[in-house]
Amino acid sequence: MSEQDTTLFGKIIRREIPADIVFENDELIAFRDIAPSAPVHVLFVPKTPIASLDAATPDHAALLGRLMIAAAEYARSEGFAEDGYRVVMNCGRDAGQTVFQVHLHLLAGAPLGGFGARHAH
Ligand code: 5GP
Repeated sequence: MSEQDTTLFGKIIRREIPADIVFENDELIAFRDIAPSAPVHVLFVPKTPIASLDAATPDHAALLGRLMIAAAEYARSEGFAEDGYRVVMNCGRDAGQTVFQVHLHLLAGAPLGGFGARHAH
């Protein structure tokens, strides 16, 4: 079993546990965070198993770029790009990463506070 198969997000990708999926293509999935830290809190996840940004290699550069662009396109399509939004990727213990499959948090829908006002767990 690959590493991704054991993570929560692997289970969401395989529809083994439910999620409010807002976007999906062959290589990415996006769904609402179960404990939102902002009015809009969506997680963008590559389907390729990568435990964290620390485990990413140059081979993943294009995929991770497309992950960012997918979040930006979603923000535009939902109409909150102009007001602004934040993307966050937690890496490792000190950042509070809890799910070891690379994912990008997209936070929007209200003023988010200054840098460091990261989402709480
Ligand atoms: P991390 O802390 O690893 O950066 O982010 C993991 C995120 O996954 C957290 O914001 C947490 O609320 C979210 N999360 C945890 N369990 C579930 C779940 O079962 N479903 C969904 N949709 N999100 C979850």
